[in-house]
Amino acid sequence: MKVGRLNFIYILIAIAIIMSTVLQIIWLQQLYKKQRVQIINEMEHLVRSSAQENVYKVLAVGRTSLREKTRIESLFLSPQWEQLYLAAGNMKSVKGLTWYHSITIRDDSIHLRLDFTVTDHLQKPKKPVSVYTNPTDIDIKTNDSLSLISMKSSVAKKLQMAGISSPAYFRIYRHGTSKIISSDAPAAVSRAYVSKRYSFNLEQNYDYQLIMTDIFSLVVYQLRFYLVSSALMLVLICAAFYALLRLQLQQRLFATAKLDFTSNMTHELKTPIASISVALQAIKKFSLFNDPLTLQNYLDIGETELQRLNMMIDKVLHLDQTDGPGPLLTYQLFEVQAGLEQVICTMRLQLTNPDDIIFLKPSIEPYFVYGDTVFLTNIFSTLIENAIKYSKGPLMLVIDCTLQRGKVVISFKDNGPGIEKMYQDKVFDRFFRVPAQGDVHDVKGFGLGLHYVKEMVKQHEGDISLKSDAGKGCTFIVTLPSADQLVTHTS
Ligand code: ADP
Repeated sequence: MKVGRLNFIYILIAIAIIMSTVLQIIWLQQLYKKQRVQIINEMEHLVRSSAQENVYKVLAVGRTSLREKTRIESLFLSPQWEQLYLAAGNMKSVKGLTWYHSITIRDDSIHLRLDFTVTDHLQKPKKPVSVYTNPTDIDIKTNDSLSLISMKSSVAKKLQMAGISSPAYFRIYRHGTSKIISSDAPAAVSRAYVSKRYSFNLEQNYDYQLIMTDIFSLVVYQLRFYLVSSALMLVLICAAFYALLRLQLQQRLFATAKLDFTSNMTHELKTPIASISVALQAIKKFSLFNDPLTLQNYLDIGETELQRLNMMIDKVLHLDQTDGPGPLLTYQLFEVQAGLEQVICTMRLQLTNPDDIIFLKPSIEPYFVYGDTVFLTNIFSTLIENAIKYSKGPLMLVIDCTLQRGKVVISFKDNGPGIEKMYQDKVFDRFFRVPAQGDVHDVKGFGLGLHYVKEMVKQHEGDISLKSDAGKGCTFIVTLPSADQLVTHTS
């Protein structure tokens, strides 16, 4: 994909993420405002209804007749009375209007009178008058402090029932004035919510006001599901875009690696072909049939180059095999040390420095695995070839073979440049080569060797791992199921 088009996609993705974040924030803000208003209304209703209940509760106290009690409660604790009382209170905004109500309680009825007066002269509002026909009824002038206790406990109970646990305080005003009679709120307390003032005793001596210090967490708590789902949605959108970009990046890397592979391969294939044709031309041109020593020399060159060509073709063929279900393996008993010794013997021919050492630690007893001799040999030779290829000075490669918990563990420890942690998983990927300094690889390769090794080890139900620190060499550890173990399992 072209870079310009790619940048356009990145910009689109960034805009999509920013837009959805902004929209979410606006939506949540609106919800927060609405929820706040709703909570404040609920609190207001809570205080108002507590005050109403408190005013009329006193009328029922001491009455022995259940019918009387029920009559009082059904009138004064009804939402209709609450509405009527509220509406009458709102009439205050009419200029010159005052109102009061009087209650007369008889044995078989309640008489309620609402009085509205509109005058040009401002009047002091009258206090409600309660008339009792039966002198043995309770004294309606209930002790004020008892009334306050009842009011406080009623509000606390309702707050608890509504699941509100944030600290709440009260203030008591002289009725209709701003004079504070008592309060339990500390002076510097924050007032996130302050209720209207409500008269809470029958004589309307005092007004009650509720103060809450925190309403934000209450609103947030009620919006918790919206908040979590919004956050989840944003995370999902970001994760989806991230996965998409990662996939796209991987595809780009793969495409580049494939291109590199093709150009590398072409170059690598051309070199031996060129050498062979030069050798053949020389034989023809200089009639080397008369010079058997030089002829032998040129034939040796041709043979070596053909072998190289053969190996390269083999690798490319294996590349195809690792794509599908894998090659058909011919399983047979394979003695690991003997196989390693044979591979080491061949690989020693590739050593160029007389100080290079490939050391196979002798083991006490032979270890056997079930596997394909050709593929197991390829695994060992690729790992040894890499150690030789990437070694910077005299090579020191130590190969160790042990039996651990029913598995044959073969380690290849070299003193080469090592592999940085960030590339250690990737080296087993197809076409991956550790980036060279200065972008030019001084060691030729296709990034296929370790991928091939991993696939083949997997085919043998084994595992391969890498331990390395940059500059401190690599240890590749191949683990294969021991043949003894397999025999015990199957028998
Ligand atoms: P190739 O050798 O053809 O590049 P491989 O798949 O065999 O491909 O290796 C992948 C990469 O791992 C190499 O490019 C190299 O950078 C790194 N590597 C493999 N073996 C060694 C080793 N023994 N020491 C240091 N680096 C290694």
